[in-house]
Amino acid sequence: MATVIVIGAGLGGMSAAYELKAELGKQHDVILVNDKPDFEFTPSNPWIAVQWRERKEISIPIEPYVKKKGIQFVHAALTKLEPTERQISLSDGQTLRYDFLVLCTGPALAFEEVTGAGPDAGGTTSVCTLSHAEECRHNVTELIEHPGPVIVGAMPGASCFGPAYEYAFILDRHLRDKKVRKHIPMTFVTSEPYIGHLGLNGVGDSKGMLESELRMRDIHWICNARTVGVKEGMMIVEELDEDGNIKRTHQLPYHHAMMLPAFKGIAPLRGIEGLVNPRGFVIVDEFQRNPVFNEIYSAGVCIAIPPQHKTPVPTGVPKTGYMIEAMVRALSHNIKAEINGTPPTCKAVWNAICLADMGDTGAAFVAMPQIPPRNVAWFKKGKWVHLAKIAFEKYFLHKMQVGDTEPLYEKLMLKYLGIDKIE
Ligand SMILES: Cc1cc2nc3c(=O)[nH]c(=O)nc-3n(C[C@H](O)[C@H](O)[C@H](O)COP(=O)(O)OP(=O)(O)OC[C@H]3O[C@@H](n4cnc5c(N)ncnc54)[C@H](O)[C@@H]3O)c2cc1C
Repeated sequence: MATVIVIGAGLGGMSAAYELKAELGKQHDVILVNDKPDFEFTPSNPWIAVQWRERKEISIPIEPYVKKKGIQFVHAALTKLEPTERQISLSDGQTLRYDFLVLCTGPALAFEEVTGAGPDAGGTTSVCTLSHAEECRHNVTELIEHPGPVIVGAMPGASCFGPAYEYAFILDRHLRDKKVRKHIPMTFVTSEPYIGHLGLNGVGDSKGMLESELRMRDIHWICNARTVGVKEGMMIVEELDEDGNIKRTHQLPYHHAMMLPAFKGIAPLRGIEGLVNPRGFVIVDEFQRNPVFNEIYSAGVCIAIPPQHKTPVPTGVPKTGYMIEAMVRALSHNIKAEINGTPPTCKAVWNAICLADMGDTGAAFVAMPQIPPRNVAWFKKGKWVHLAKIAFEKYFLHKMQVGDTEPLYEKLMLKYLGIDKIE
């Protein structure tokens, strides 16, 4: 009998636990470890900040649902990994041994890389976690009571840009609904070299379309923005030219700022030689398996993907739901194969589908594969995207409750978008 431990119960880890259990059956143990008792649906966090969702609508308790499928849940944080001993230590004092370990821990948020940034330092807010989004909501409420300038965007080294655009658009909508938008100048400050780059060197006409959407909403922007510090309602931003020289230094006053930080790997994994890169992201091969510690697999935001091209201000490649689903599927097949004594063969194709809500409308992009050159680069706008995003949220939470292992993106999204026959 093999023991497979999955660390992290986010989009990647929850799906991995269900898939592994379905693959391995009763004769093998699947243990899911998470530092929080609830599964939180991260893509809905921006809606929390503008009061369009409450915590209970986008989170579910993990244990009762996974238990029904025969998965053991441990509510504790990973504190130490000893890969040569195949052993982990947890915050509740337990030590567990594994035959296979699946790391789905998501990112650590590197706010400290910009002086004064982040909810702890108090300089900027965030929608990266549900708790951050709830704090952000208080800040938005204060903004409505005391209107003033707003900054939304992404810090140097960020890799996740979609939610920054999404937040800018829905905040704009919310402030219009509250009839205070006319008192609130908004600026989008991003490390991307151009609007719509998205860490992917653009997708279809993402540049033209997102510039147009920002213009239509009176949202100004600064690209190649190296945010260097945040202090007492003032953000210092160095705007670089194409060669990386400082073109202009901006001092931007604000009443509310939501800036997505750079990501790095979580603390217990950092510095483990052969397992992680210098930023603490887990190194995986084409089978989602670590090349040094072959019994460790990984999926989701915690894996290492090198930037695909150099930008004046560093940017990373986003890791989104569709590719996470594919990674989880591949690693589940591969672990089953290894347990049965055959080598892993399943590889994940890294495609990207993103639905960015804009309040009452939205923008969808599809990049297949995610890294250019691509077979499909598709970007479209419409009210249907807003509705699709709501449907997706409901369906994904349902999937996490019933333990459905059907690939959601392939099954639903591509068909819904009408592009299931393209490849
Ligand atoms: C605001 C936001 C919106 C997004 N919207 C979309 C979208 O619309 N579409 C899309 O495709 N992608 C989106 N993404 C990108 C991506 O799909 C999500 O970030 C997704 O949640 C990543 O899943 P994950 O499982 O890799 O990590 P996470 O969802 O972050 O899950 C990691 C889990 O590990 C746990 N954990 C961390 N450290 C430990 C530890 N030491 N011990 C135990 N547990 C630990 C965490 O608590 C968490 O439960 C969005 C990202 C953000 C930040």
